Amino acid sequence: MCDRVIRNRDICTECEAKQHFVDGETCRKCGKKITGKDGIYCYDCRRTQKRFDRGFAVFEYEYIRTSLYRFKYNGRAEYAGYYARVTKEKLGRTLEMIGIEAFIPVPIHRSRLAKRGYNQAGEYARRLSELCSIPVREDIIERPVRTKAQKQLGAGERQKNLKKAFKLHSDGVELNKVCIVDDIYTTGSTINAIATLLKDAGVKEVYFVAIAIGKGM
Ligand SMILES: [Zn+2]
Ligand SMILES: [Zn+2]
Repeated sequence: MCDRVIRNRDICTECEAKQHFVDGETCRKCGKKITGKDGIYCYDCRRTQKRFDRGFAVFEYEYIRTSLYRFKYNGRAEYAGYYARVTKEKLGRTLEMIGIEAFIPVPIHRSRLAKRGYNQAGEYARRLSELCSIPVREDIIERPVRTKAQKQLGAGERQKNLKKAFKLHSDGVELNKVCIVDDIYTTGSTINAIATLLKDAGVKEVYFVAIAIGKGM
């Protein structure tokens, strides 16, 4: 996404030709690209237990990082339209077959929301919701604690950092199949923390969709 002004399109043809989608062999758990010798799960999913059932991502992170950075930090909320359109094309049918009842965007703390003006995961979830006719539920998970930026921390610290970051609004959730929505999936600790809350509250199946994902090792 070069930020050039174009008419009637959400991305210019040059940038569109440069996109790398997550395809071929992917981890059966988190959706990371893997090589055949890994088996069906990536190194990370073989090593650590995940509470979510399965995840899917659209773009390979390293090729879309500049675009995602602008989307998150430079006010380009409208990029959500393009990300959602491609997500619908790639994963719409899968989400429909699973029977997802609601999209749950990863919330950001209100101080970050005030500073940024929008929650990037929320923008993406709303555009996806319009295209897939699946409602967005932002009333289930809240983020009462402001945590340190995850990217500065190692895996163990991330988990500790996130343990108290999220909270469930009520005791039970009346949904059976939900899909957490986020911009980037890296170690999965954020998604896992939310999936744990949802499963403990009685949700039977928890999935996730991310715009981009890193490579499996
Ligand atoms: Zn462009
Ligand atoms: Zn995996």
